[in-house]
Amino acid sequence: MSNIIQIDNIGCLYTANEDGVQSYKNTTITIEDGLIRSIGEKNEDKSIDCNGKMVTAGFVDSHTHPVFFENRANEYSMRLSGLTYEEIARNGGGIISSVNGLRNASEDELIAKLEDRVDRFLQNGTTTIEAKSGYGLDTDSELKSLSVIDQVNQNHSIDIIPTFMGAHAIPIEYKNNPENYIDLICDEMIPEISKQGVALFNDVFCEEGYFNVDDTRRILNTGIEYGLKPRMHADEFVDSGAAELAGEIGAFSADHLMAISERGIESLVNNNVIGTLLPGTTFFLGKNTYAPARKLIDSGIDVALATDFNPGSSNIQSMPFIISLACLFMELTVEEAFKAATYNSAKSLGLENKVGSVELGMKADLIIWDLDSLIDIPYYISNHPIQKVIKNGKIVFGA
Ligand SMILES: [Zn+2]
Repeated sequence: MSNIIQIDNIGCLYTANEDGVQSYKNTTITIEDGLIRSIGEKNEDKSIDCNGKMVTAGFVDSHTHPVFFENRANEYSMRLSGLTYEEIARNGGGIISSVNGLRNASEDELIAKLEDRVDRFLQNGTTTIEAKSGYGLDTDSELKSLSVIDQVNQNHSIDIIPTFMGAHAIPIEYKNNPENYIDLICDEMIPEISKQGVALFNDVFCEEGYFNVDDTRRILNTGIEYGLKPRMHADEFVDSGAAELAGEIGAFSADHLMAISERGIESLVNNNVIGTLLPGTTFFLGKNTYAPARKLIDSGIDVALATDFNPGSSNIQSMPFIISLACLFMELTVEEAFKAATYNSAKSLGLENKVGSVELGMKADLIIWDLDSLIDIPYYISNHPIQKVIKNGKIVFGA
């Protein structure tokens, strides 16, 4: 017997697709077995009353680093006393400090931490996240991270899309021979991860001092051979030619892009690479170097938004807050920001036919807001009046 629920008394439904944001006033959504069965048809099934408020698709957060042990509040405190993120990293902080924590933690400890974090994503209306490994930086610890993601994905209502990111930093033990670490990624990690089937994507931090364009090309091409789809951290601090490579290699997404060049923009446009913008990182680091979002959109690039949630440079899990930042500091319209946080972010994961929109046959991932219209989302900048979050047709927040 199929399970049918009706979402009734919706004041306005907003959903984005390739053509932009659509809205439907005074409507009803019928959910059957976790999928959207109809929009606008009333029937006699049991229903959830939205009290005339707004309903949207759940957010898709397409760039997160949620598998780590301890937070890095100590570094935040160092930054407040004047050190930069780069200086802290040079003094043994940054990614490397999270690596020690992750390597020493058990799988169960990491599962408990990740479960708490995904609960908070759901509370903020995010129903699908991409999650990267990348604080292990040795074969066992990268596999441990991906196994943690896999187990939480199976036992928790949120959907998690796993990304292998062994190329997040050069671990300390390879400081003097980084090329050997790249060999380890290509010759051992990627084949084993592919064999275990625990990652869909392969991501590289292509940046000065991390992985250069040639290293990145090799790592992503090896991933492609083993069935891992490419995505990239590109041109965050300086223009290193990363966005050009993202186009050349056919990456699903090039992320950050604060220092993208004209040629980088051309390469993304010509190869239909999504530009994922992470204004939370700029904000959290107290900088004002936001990505040139207007220029990217006006050049014809599909822009996605994500939190970049991680313990060092963006302790942010709220997509509504990211939408506020995008509107305030990157001059996106609220419709552009909403589409970027739902449909486009789903598209950057190859999931635009399953999540990120409210359309027939798609997953019933919905936010029932205590708000009336789209502009209320960025306007309520520091709180998110949400009545209920629905994932696969089930209420997962707000009984
Ligand atoms: Zn990142």
